[in-house]
Amino acid sequence: MSLKSKVTGLILAGGRGTRMGRVDKGLQPFRGTTLVEHVMRRLAPQAATIVINANRNLPQYQAVAGEAPVLPDYLDGFEGPLAGLQIGLQYCPTELLLTAPCDSPFLPADLAERLHAAMQAQDADVALAVTMESEEGGEPRRQLHPVFALLKASLLPQLDAYLATGARRMESWYKSLRVAEVMFDDADAFRNINTLAELQQHERAPAPAPAAPAGEPAADAMPVAEAQRIICERMTPVAATETLPLRAALDRVLAEDIVSPINVPAYDNSAMDGYALRGADLPAAGAPDATFKVIGIAYAGRPCTQTPQAGECVRIMTGAAIPPGCDSVLQQELAAHIGADTVTIAHGAIRPGANRRFAGEDLKAGGIALAKGKILRPADLGLVASLGIGEVAVQRKLRVAFFSTGDELRSLGDSLDEGCVYDSNRYTLFGMLTRLGCEIIDMGIVRDDPAALEAALREASAQADAIITSGGVSEGAADYTRDILARIGDVAFWKLAMRPGRPLAFGQIRTEAGSAWLFGLPGNPVAVMVSFYLFARPALLRMMGAQSTLPMMQARCTEAIRKRPGRTEYQRGIISAGAGGEPQVRLTGAQGSGILRSMTEANCIVVLREAQASIAAGEMVDVLLFDGLV
Ligand code: AMP
Ligand code: MG
Repeated sequence: MSLKSKVTGLILAGGRGTRMGRVDKGLQPFRGTTLVEHVMRRLAPQAATIVINANRNLPQYQAVAGEAPVLPDYLDGFEGPLAGLQIGLQYCPTELLLTAPCDSPFLPADLAERLHAAMQAQDADVALAVTMESEEGGEPRRQLHPVFALLKASLLPQLDAYLATGARRMESWYKSLRVAEVMFDDADAFRNINTLAELQQHERAPAPAPAAPAGEPAADAMPVAEAQRIICERMTPVAATETLPLRAALDRVLAEDIVSPINVPAYDNSAMDGYALRGADLPAAGAPDATFKVIGIAYAGRPCTQTPQAGECVRIMTGAAIPPGCDSVLQQELAAHIGADTVTIAHGAIRPGANRRFAGEDLKAGGIALAKGKILRPADLGLVASLGIGEVAVQRKLRVAFFSTGDELRSLGDSLDEGCVYDSNRYTLFGMLTRLGCEIIDMGIVRDDPAALEAALREASAQADAIITSGGVSEGAADYTRDILARIGDVAFWKLAMRPGRPLAFGQIRTEAGSAWLFGLPGNPVAVMVSFYLFARPALLRMMGAQSTLPMMQARCTEAIRKRPGRTEYQRGIISAGAGGEPQVRLTGAQGSGILRSMTEANCIVVLREAQASIAAGEMVDVLLFDGLV
């Protein structure tokens, strides 16, 4: 039996993690993923199953944990590692439990193996890692790592008994057990990341991460879907709502379900101008035509109160209530003969039940007519009006501040000096944010200067829910940006496995004046738009409390496209109806990330998936549509 099959990995993420601000340590973005996922990857080859102990942000942990359970402590008000250990031992389906903190992305690959060997050799209950730490100027010192431990699952009753005495310290519990200490040479492997400064520093250091298997993106480039997931998981809807008259609510996000107070339609009515009758009176097959006597007339809004008897009918207009006893309507153009006060109908002209609209067939009283989170479109306004409702509760508008960075940028109206470009990103961002229904705060151009950038970010965080910047996040350019952002927020710099739009900064700015989510988009005009659509848009929609996905479809590509696997590419295309009406797509010429024309000519984006290589003309490709009808 392999060692792995006997080991359960316990990731300790239960602490308060206050040194990294309000964001949970394990969920910190780190080298393309989160800290806890690094720990999971490191433990996966060493354990049959993994469990995470966390006390806050459980859904976020669950989202990254996949199959692994995420369990909170049950020891009230403590949140120390022993409480995590208790829940871990209780869950542990195997003989042994291997523990590691959620912020130790470099833990040794042979941790379980070496701890186990010592445990067996010394007949111990617990094996702990030890390293030699050399402090500047001082003697090297033995450093015990009680949270990197291998324990027998059978220790649970002893731990319960120890905790029952009110004691809480891990080290002193271990003193009551037979402990094997195992010296590891690589002290760095046990390095846990405690502060944002450390996180940023390691983010930049060369990665000791395991090599990615062939076909996957380089270890340091994050897949688009993963970045989207990490971003979206952090977002929560803003709480404030407002009540607006129906028309003012167009394009706003519904804050409450709209429950229908009535049936729509409120009564059975006619879908046609014609004659209402009893279906049972229609002539059978082979029977002669039947003539009905017209006994009255029903208009929309003016019902006919008479009840037709056998052989009688009522002249009826579209939308008029179906008279009592009737269940079918013959549209007038299908009558065999219309007399002064009669109508004659042949067999088969209509089926019984024809042209009757049922009460409540559009909306039932008490049913949810529109669900919270819906972005109200024209049809929705109509639907709400059909219920007689004139005001709706919507989410307050999201406030989004944005600015462009770059010494080379000039505003419209300025002269274009040598080597300069007009700032176009603020216009595309204006358009995209306005379309999304945000309240925008245009902060202009910010020079490539640390003090100016810091001032702009501080000001933006005081006013906005989110901040969108363009430029200055590519490698090299971003060095001073990182330092500022480490000081006034938790922001990670990602390299994404995509084109265009490889660099992205994402995190939270927190100042005395307020906090805001930051999306640091790249500078190139097409990259700005693509990264906005892919990352900022879904995140902002979530903050707005909205449910929305981009419509994706498939089309036949009329030309060959060169592409290498390992990154997702977003090419600008024109989709149209091809032979037989099948959608086909071609590219809009040169696809450089600075060529905005490729975007203005396009009506869609062709998405070439990460694993995809070059495609031949005639292959099907995924396409994201720009505009919908409504
Ligand atoms: P950066 O990401 O700052 O290195 O910028 C990358 C490229 O995008 C450079 O060619 C910039 O001149 C260009 N760029 C950056 N910001 C803007 C902007 N607001 N409008 C137009 N081009 C920009
Ligand atoms: Mg720049």
